[in-house]
This record gives sequence, structure tokens and C-alpha cells, in this order.
Amino acid sequence: MLSHLLDREGVESVVLEKHSRDYVVHRVRAGVLEAGTVATLTAAGVGDRLAREGLVHRGIGIRFDGRDHRIDLAELTGKAITIYGQQEVVKDLIEARLARGAAVHFDVPDVRLDAPSGSRPRLEGTVSGRPLVVECDFVVGCDGFHGISRDHLPPTAWHAYHHEYPFAWLGILVQAPPSAAEVIYANHERGFALHSMRSPAITRLYLQCDRGDSLDAWPDERIWSELHTRLASAGWRLTEGPIIERGIAPLRSFVAEPMQHGSLFLAGDAAHIVPPTGAKGLNLAIADVAALAGSLAEWYRHRSRSGLDDYSPAALRRVWRAQAFSYQLTSLLHRFPDHDQYDRRRQLAELQYLTRSRAAATALAENYVGAAP
Ligand SMILES: Cc1cc2nc3c(=O)[nH]c(=O)nc-3n(C[C@H](O)[C@H](O)[C@H](O)COP(=O)(O)OP(=O)(O)OC[C@H]3O[C@@H](n4cnc5c(N)ncnc54)[C@H](O)[C@@H]3O)c2cc1C
Repeated sequence: MLSHLLDREGVESVVLEKHSRDYVVHRVRAGVLEAGTVATLTAAGVGDRLAREGLVHRGIGIRFDGRDHRIDLAELTGKAITIYGQQEVVKDLIEARLARGAAVHFDVPDVRLDAPSGSRPRLEGTVSGRPLVVECDFVVGCDGFHGISRDHLPPTAWHAYHHEYPFAWLGILVQAPPSAAEVIYANHERGFALHSMRSPAITRLYLQCDRGDSLDAWPDERIWSELHTRLASAGWRLTEGPIIERGIAPLRSFVAEPMQHGSLFLAGDAAHIVPPTGAKGLNLAIADVAALAGSLAEWYRHRSRSGLDDYSPAALRRVWRAQAFSYQLTSLLHRFPDHDQYDRRRQLAELQYLTRSRAAATALAENYVGAAP
């Protein structure tokens, strides 16, 4: 996305990706796009398929005590969300980049950074069996949580904030039509469950599981039994189907602060991770690079560093808002191993407040759609 936005500003870039094109366009992860993300993609000319195939949702469901409640996002905030898989966004972006003949290199297993925060950074790697050296003005680490760029910030120049949650999510993709028109977040005493979708024919379901669980502990029968139990609601039936993809992801929060040193900038998961509960990770990553593209364009146009200097403080304000929201929603919806009956009743009281108070529902809605100030 950054490479695409820079190209539109007349700024040249080179993208080095460790994995193959096939791998990155099939990696199933996020699926909830905030209105701001949709607007950014559309304004950048990569929103045509998104407009055709994205599912616009005006509300989300909250289910607890076997009852359904709805948060009307559109009525409370004037904004909606769009369901469109992250891999589809990636597919559209790669096609747009390659159509412009961009320098996007896949299968580069050995990217090395030389003095990336100095005045003349260099990147090296092997592209199609041949060494490639890139000398550049800036390096932007868009290489995810497990990438290499963050480690090039000088140790004394940044701080890492971590929070680990005592559970994980088991996510499955099912070849079956969704059982509800909107996303449903379920709080159940056996643990959290989420009903979502990727298209009218594909359902996405998640279950809270133990942090140390492996997929072996979750045969199909157990997955369906837990989903039926945790998502149960009068008159509602979950449609089963073949599980075409499954994975377990631990829940964690992380922030690297600041997100920049000299010529090295971090964006997206390289700088911050949130638990997927609030559906913020992908949206934050797009917001980061949209801001950075503008600042870099300003530098090339006017040699002004003011946008670049403001990048990290402005991004961190957004990131910490998303951190706080994702933490709150995760705490509200999950069963914690040390929770007793007191904690359970307190959690239910909190959920009831959310469904009875317009103010509480509005607070959730404006954070969920990405409209919180
Ligand atoms: C199972 C799962 C479910 C999720 N669900 C949601 C959700 O519902 N909603 C939401 O908003 N977010 C969700 N997320 C988070 C979301 O996917 C991320 O926040 C988002 O992908 C961040 O984008 P990014 O570009 O910063 O990083 P990534 O998408 O991780 O991209 C980084 C890229 O850098 C490449 N790379 C890494 N190291 C190197 C290297 N050394 N050299 C070259 N290339 C390298 C990687 O191969 C990768 O392609 C989920 C994540 C997971 C894992």
C-alpha cells in the first residue's frame, strides 16, 4: 500500500518480500475494514473490487446469556464497516503495483539492512538468485511483528511495551454461507466465540482456546461442539460445512515507541500489535502508511521534515487509542483463567450496561468503526 501511495506521489520505492506472491495472497487474516480504510483504498484507485464484493455492515451483534443484542454502528456513528478479506486487499494492491511495472520482489529470503537509520541506508538481498543492493533515502519497516527492521532501532532510542493474554484464538474458514447477516461477538462462560464471514459463501469462525493448545487438540467434532454451545441463541442455528483453513494465534499487545529513528520508519505490525478482538491491526497498518506516504511526498516536494517528524507522535496517538479499545473489548468478552463467579457477574453487568446505555454503545461503536477522537 505504501509503495502504491508513493508511486501516486511520484516517489520511487522498492519492495522486498520474504515470501512468495502465492503465499501472501492466500494468507487468511483480517477481514473488517473501517470506513476510513475503505476511503483510503478507494481514493488510491484500488477500491473497485472492494466496492463490488465487499459486504457493508451497519451493525454488529453481541450475544451473552443466550440473548442477542445489536450495536447499530451506522445509527450511532453515521459510519459502517466493510467485510473484505485482507488477502483480497493484498491481491488488489499487488496487481496494481505490477501493472505499473513496480519493483516488487517476492521470495527474497535474506533481506539485510545496512545502517537503515543513517543518512544513506542500504538494503541487500537475493532476488531470483542474484544479489540486489538498494541505496535509498529512507527505509520503512513494513515487515510485520516478526520482521527484522525493528531490531535496527538503536537499543537506547526506543521502548517496547508488551502485554500477553492468557489465551489464544482458534480460527477456521468454513465453506458454508454465514448463519447471520452481521458479525456476532459471543461471551459465554466456556469462553469467547465469534461468528464472521468473508463472502456470501464463506464463514469465518473463532473460538477462544488455551494459549498452549495445538490444532491436534481441536478435531472437527470438538470445534463444532464448542461453537454450537458458545454461540447458542434461541431460534438460531449455526450452519456447518467443510473446514478449509484453520490456525491458532496467541493474543498479545505490543507497541514500539517511537516508531522512527533517523531514516528508519516502522509501520503496521512491525511497530504495534493488538489482539484481533477489535479488528484494528490491518486498519492501523493502512492508517500508518497513508500518513507516511503524505509525509514522504512532502519531504520530496519541499524538503520539509515536519510531516516526517510528526509521523511517530501522530501514529502513536491512534495506536494507543486502538490498544486501549482492543484491551477493553478483549477483557469484556473473554473468560480469564483466574476469573471467579464475582468476575463473571461483573462482566455480565458490564455487557448489560453496554446494551442498555446509548452512551456506552456509542463509545464501543465509535471505537469499532475507527471514529474515536
Ligand atoms: C490469525 C490472525 C487473524 C487476524 N485477524 C485480524 C482481524 O480480524 N482484523 C484486523 O484488523 N487484524 C487482524 N489481524 C492482524 C492483521 O492481519 C495485521 O495487523 C496486518 O497484517 C498488519 O499488516 P502489516 O503489513 O503491518 O504486516 P504483515 O501483514 O504481517 O506483512 C508483513 C510482511 O513482511 C514480510 N516480512 C517479514 N519479515 C520479512 C523479512 N525479514 N524480509 C522481507 N519480508 C519480510 C512478511 O512475509 C509479510 O508479508 C490478524 C492477524 C492474524 C495473525
